[in-house]
Amino acid sequence: MLNVPPQAFPAPSSQQRVAVGGRAKVPLKPGRSLMDWIRLTKSGKDLTGLKGRLIEVTEDELAKHNKKEDCWICIRGFVYNVTPYMEYHPGGEDELMKAAGADGTDLFDQVHRWVNYESMLKECLVGRMAVKPIAAPKGMLPEKKVLGASAKDLTPSYDWFQTDSLITIVIYTKQKDMNAELVIVDCQDKRLRGEIIVDNDSYLVELDLDHAVQEDLAVNIAEKVGKVEIILKKKDNIHWKMLGEPLESHSTFIKRTDRGLFYRKCKLISKTEVTHDTKLFCLMLPKSTHLRVPTGHHVYLKQIIAGTEVVKPYTPVLPFLSLDFKEPSCHDGIHIYLMIKIYSCGLFTQALDHLHIGDYISVSNPEGSFKKSQVQTSEDLFLLAAGTGFTPMVKLLNFALTEVSCLRTVKLIFFNKTEDDILWRNQLEQLALVDERFEVQFILSQPTKDWVGKQGKISSSLLSEFVKRSRKESKVLICICGPTPFTEQGVQYLKVLGYSQEEIHTFTA
Ligand code: FAD
Ligand code: NAD
Repeated sequence: MLNVPPQAFPAPSSQQRVAVGGRAKVPLKPGRSLMDWIRLTKSGKDLTGLKGRLIEVTEDELAKHNKKEDCWICIRGFVYNVTPYMEYHPGGEDELMKAAGADGTDLFDQVHRWVNYESMLKECLVGRMAVKPIAAPKGMLPEKKVLGASAKDLTPSYDWFQTDSLITIVIYTKQKDMNAELVIVDCQDKRLRGEIIVDNDSYLVELDLDHAVQEDLAVNIAEKVGKVEIILKKKDNIHWKMLGEPLESHSTFIKRTDRGLFYRKCKLISKTEVTHDTKLFCLMLPKSTHLRVPTGHHVYLKQIIAGTEVVKPYTPVLPFLSLDFKEPSCHDGIHIYLMIKIYSCGLFTQALDHLHIGDYISVSNPEGSFKKSQVQTSEDLFLLAAGTGFTPMVKLLNFALTEVSCLRTVKLIFFNKTEDDILWRNQLEQLALVDERFEVQFILSQPTKDWVGKQGKISSSLLSEFVKRSRKESKVLICICGPTPFTEQGVQYLKVLGYSQEEIHTFTA
């Protein structure tokens, strides 16, 4: 929690008025109050200059940052870039400069012991001090060579410890804003695989564990400091001498795209009809898997068909479109919902349709290029979907309407052949009724005579009618998904209409 004074500011006893031990306070310039500092820290500005990365800092590196305009200070093993904070420091710049490029823990403890500096300076966190090499803790495995990572000091590292009943593996990702979608863990028999996604790179812990563990595992993430804990339950309460034998890719940090797809077997829980040819499949992840599919990303399903491995991509959806926006979206992390059209002569979908409840199917790690931040900076969001090209729009719609406050309009333009093909029509119409920012337009390419709505395929005239900025300068994002010719034509028309590549996102494999 930040120490935000509740009433008059600075409050009579606040850090900005009280001189500790009679120490004179330096008058702060206008616009440099604690509240101004808090606003700055919440503005999303990069205060470290490291674009959200956390690095390991050596003593030599720390010492280089000893000037007002480039000042790093170490407090209790964590290094902060305090340059942006200089003008906000009640004790003045000179006081801070006493610890410039050095360990300021003692100085800090003398003067500011009560200050919640971790919270005050959290956006200034540069990283941890590098630990001087000492004998490796008992049982810890040697670090493998780093393959292809951009900078060595950004390579995540790991450690482990145990209690009578638990094994905890701690991964220091050196990446701020870690979240559950960036951590994928599987434990099958004694084989542990923990993958951490860091931008376009992937760090892997992959071991044949020393002893057996129970099926369920837990993952804890300290988001701001980028620490990930994988907690395993020992099967037998015995002391482990080592964590395990490293497997081939253990402790490697390589490009994400160079990491092979990893599959785990998921159980088919239910299969429900959505339309005459499309079904909602619910798959259950094993208890020993931690996996969250990010919005707009897909997974690969793998089946052996006629003795051959066949793989096809599918984009997970939600079990339904939530109408109550006060509730958090309902992805529980245990189930994966897939909305799949069964083609009468489709190789993969026919085999899928023949699966029974309780059967198993292999599901890969998620892939995709869509980033939620693309929506977070937009005022108008347009979703152009054709047929099952609707699937990436489901989570996106839910995210946009529940979590993005700057959006003024969200419009789904949904292309289908016939009325019977429209997926979740009722839910979409209900959603448009309860949220005035949301509008849905159905366009049919093979309508019956009774259809009074719009008809046709994607065209320049249809797009110019439905895709419009709500204000002259408003920031738009247009997402497109459907058959490849649909997507390609859509992009062409939009460019002719004056939209830039940055304003368009296409969903492809
Ligand atoms: P195939 O045996 O390959 O083809 C048989 C016949 O089915 C074809 O002759 C054609 O008539 C029809 N057909 C097959 N594929 C297509 C196609 N892509 N477009 C139009 N007609 C086709 N599908 C979903 O239902 N839900 C999803 O969530 C989903 N997500 C996807 C995500 C990505 C990134 C991509 C690239 C595709 C996605 N697909 C999705 C399509 C899916 O991957 C398969 O292409 C589809 O299920 C057909 O597989 P099949 O083996 O049954 O058909
Ligand atoms: P469909 O055959 O039922 O067609 C739906 C609508 O798409 C049609 O009414 C028409 O308006 C438009 N369309 C179809 N073919 C077109 C063409 N050649 N040119 C212009 N417009 C055309 O669609 P479907 O069978 O549901 O197929 C959905 C497609 O979406 C598949 O190709 C699938 O691979 C793709 N998809 C991709 C992703 C992804 O993330 N990349 C996700 C889901 C689905």
